[in-house]
Amino acid sequence: AERSNDLYDVARRVLKFLGQIKYPAASERAQGCIIVANDLGPSETAQLSRDQISGFCTNSGGPTSHTAIMAKALGLPAVVGLDYITHYVRNNDTMIIDGTEGKVILHPTPEEIQQYRDRAKEISRDRELLERYRDLAAETLDGAGICLEANIEFAEEIPKVLEQGAEGIGLFRTEYFFIERSSLPTEDEQEEAYSSVVNAMGDKPVVFRTLDVGGDKLAISIPIPPEHNPFLGLRALRLCLAYPEIFRRQLRPLFRAGHGRELRILLPMISSIDEIRKAKVIIEEARVQVKRNEQKSPSKLLIGAMIEIPSAALQADVLAREVDFFSIGTNDLIQYTLAVDRVNKMVGHLYQETHPAVLKLIRKVVVAAEEANIPLSVCGEMAGDPYLSLILVGLGVRTLSMSPQLLLPVKRAIRGADAAKLRELADRLLTLSSPMEVREVLARELPTAYRGSLEVKLPTL
Ligand code: PEP
Ligand code: MG
Repeated sequence: AERSNDLYDVARRVLKFLGQIKYPAASERAQGCIIVANDLGPSETAQLSRDQISGFCTNSGGPTSHTAIMAKALGLPAVVGLDYITHYVRNNDTMIIDGTEGKVILHPTPEEIQQYRDRAKEISRDRELLERYRDLAAETLDGAGICLEANIEFAEEIPKVLEQGAEGIGLFRTEYFFIERSSLPTEDEQEEAYSSVVNAMGDKPVVFRTLDVGGDKLAISIPIPPEHNPFLGLRALRLCLAYPEIFRRQLRPLFRAGHGRELRILLPMISSIDEIRKAKVIIEEARVQVKRNEQKSPSKLLIGAMIEIPSAALQADVLAREVDFFSIGTNDLIQYTLAVDRVNKMVGHLYQETHPAVLKLIRKVVVAAEEANIPLSVCGEMAGDPYLSLILVGLGVRTLSMSPQLLLPVKRAIRGADAAKLRELADRLLTLSSPMEVREVLARELPTAYRGSLEVKLPTL
């Protein structure tokens, strides 16, 4: 298993040779270079940096794939799901990628280049305007306070999180620590990373989501046999319950890092209460072990469930009795509710955040959390979309967690909205029968609940 990485590398070199493609070495890649690939895995994306490249585009992938999420974390413009882009582009071609609109222009005309230079200036001017929101409260016009937190993939993102004024880390995707390497991280390495995050965040809360590998996030250090449907397979907590020693190996450093403070542990891919109970037994074992051997323990332990599978949403009232908080993962909740693979471009048009079934499930979870009096947040990509975040507020969500660079655009949208009107609108959306109807009603009626300027884009019909 240790050599698998080398084999992978040899295979790539052979393919490169067969295709007679000359890839510029990393050291030769000039700033301004765009990577055009059939696919990039989340771990390959994680190794890209803005110093080396200006962006990338791929044939496959969807907007909520972990590759796209990683691009956001790195601040890299990207367009995914382009089908055949690799057929059309040759080395040294000139191209423009527009990550906002999801557009690629190959061999742009001088006018198009100018138009995009102007657009880039406009975007940086808007970023300056957004700075004004940094120290303002995330509050609607009628005084509803919304807590805005950040999603992170790496400890290195913390300065950006603090700079953008996040009130905490709502989702730390700890799996990236496992994905990027050929052997499992040691407990010491993990402790160092987890401690650096809690220390840097001070009194602000940090939610550690336990290892969520599988699906489109493969960790070569944890060999999962090939699966026909990886998103429905041995992923996340299922894998941790199948290999409890890997789970313990993550939990112990979490308990050490959480010594003397509040420790929040979030369990991904919960489909039934039994999984939570089984996980709690292993968590308790790890807690006792660290306490007995090292006299370290958190001042308070909170265990949460990700609600991202329809069965969990439907049973949210039952699960609420077993956990301390909920976090709705809309990326997966949409994928599993609508049976649409979030990385499959061919069914991308069916991936609809505003599908009435999705909205109903979210409302059901909000109500269950309210009745059980436990905190709830949304940490899927919906939370970081200024437009969709307003719908979540209308559905009753009061904590949103997103990529750090989206915090200010979402805060601006919230400050221009009226929560009571959003509530009425959401109630109305819940009575509609089709995604198309929802989009039509939103396009017509969202402006009545929103008084900010048009940075909140209305959906195109
Ligand atoms: C989600 O599913 O919405 C989520 C936040 O988790 P991930 O994107 O890592 O699957
Ligand atoms: Mg998920």
